[in-house]
Amino acid sequence: MFATLSDRLADTFKNLRGKGRLSEADIDATAREIRIALLEADVALPVVKEFVGAVKERARGEEVSGALNPAQQVVKIVDEELVNILGGETRRLRYAKNGPTVIMLAGLQGAGKTTLAAKLALWLKEQGKSPLLVAADLQRPNAVNQLQVNGERVGVKVFAPEPGNGVGNPVTVARDAIEEAKRTLHDVVIVDTAGRLGVDAEMMKQAADIRDAVQPDEVLFVVDAMIGQDAVTTAQAFLDGVGYDGVVLTKLDGDARGGAALSIASITGKPVMFASNGEKMTDFDLFHPDRMASRILDMGDMLTLIEQAEKTFDADQAAKAAAKLTGQGGEFTLDDFLEQMQQVRKLGSMSKIMGMLPGMGQFRDQLENFDEREIDRIQAVIQSMTPAERANPKIIDGSRRLRIAKGSGRQVSDVNQLVDRFFEARKMMQSMAKGGGIPGMPGMPG
Ligand code: GDP
Repeated sequence: MFATLSDRLADTFKNLRGKGRLSEADIDATAREIRIALLEADVALPVVKEFVGAVKERARGEEVSGALNPAQQVVKIVDEELVNILGGETRRLRYAKNGPTVIMLAGLQGAGKTTLAAKLALWLKEQGKSPLLVAADLQRPNAVNQLQVNGERVGVKVFAPEPGNGVGNPVTVARDAIEEAKRTLHDVVIVDTAGRLGVDAEMMKQAADIRDAVQPDEVLFVVDAMIGQDAVTTAQAFLDGVGYDGVVLTKLDGDARGGAALSIASITGKPVMFASNGEKMTDFDLFHPDRMASRILDMGDMLTLIEQAEKTFDADQAAKAAAKLTGQGGEFTLDDFLEQMQQVRKLGSMSKIMGMLPGMGQFRDQLENFDEREIDRIQAVIQSMTPAERANPKIIDGSRRLRIAKGSGRQVSDVNQLVDRFFEARKMMQSMAKGGGIPGMPGMPG
């Protein structure tokens, strides 16, 4: 998502490079290009107008800064304005002071509500909460069952009407669920409500009735970021019909232009609170406007990457690996290499991880085409080595290479390449550990 927008903005900034001062004509041309980039990305017109107006005004009034050249100043302004339209600061959930916190989900059918309910439950569980999922979507035949399956996947209890018991009233189900939560000491209740394929009055009324019955602490409007301009109209319709406190964007992993999603906070005045970006239950997080802006501007999203790493990595193993890199825990071996690769892999696909690093926008095609099986192949080669070879790769001579290639079903050239790369990587890591920074990447501290 947002790839085209990123590319167009990068081109705009490129045109400013090397300029000592921005003339009125430069600012006009830049504003025009940003306008086109936003419109092409499907950002709603009123938002585009406001955005471009603000950028122009600030670019004109910007004081000459000693630290930033004009091109950098424009990037900074665009970054700050992006954060602005995305809702400014990260908006966190408000928990009830007494009794369970009630979160109600509303949105169209197919928006990803049921999936999101389970993702949110898992996320809350990781924050130390004890959530209860409530199946109040009694419209779609399979919705209750789907929520039960998802609830099981994340290990969270689902409150649902008994099948075939004639319990068809979602308001009653939601109300009973709150009582159940109080009895069983669940501190957060997530109510999944029915959606229709399109906005209709009856659906709005049902959602409003549930809202009135359970008095949620937070009503979240769930919207598929792939549906383009319809997202903005739907968001407005739900705001008028049900009302909500925050927005959840789903399917941000898709390749739609996504600009509509960027417009929702600005148009409705309601912040985007969460984002869902994949089919896995862990593909979900708080939405941080500043990090999203950084990603769009290809400045990377190191904070998210670091947070994920902290969540995923075994602190013990990490400390051991770090000790080896600095030469204190014995020499770095192919076993360590394999272990690290497996750890990094837990973070997600290589293309996802690399995409969070700054400046990777230019390699987007290669990243998207990266064959994840390449990692499997490398693993297979290493696993075909004997423990002695892995501990001391220097002994891997010609005949050993032939045997390893046969064992892993690869070519000798693949084994050669892997061993060469390993020695290179080890050399690079050792020089980084000595404080030399990443060779070839000036400005990247080690
Ligand atoms: P609901 O009708 O609003 O409850 O929507 P569902 O939760 O059933 O989701 C509809 C479809 O979208 C399902 O096939 C989900 O697997 C898929 N889906 C939900 N969230 C995401 C996401 O973040 N990324 C992707 N790629 N698919 C998603």
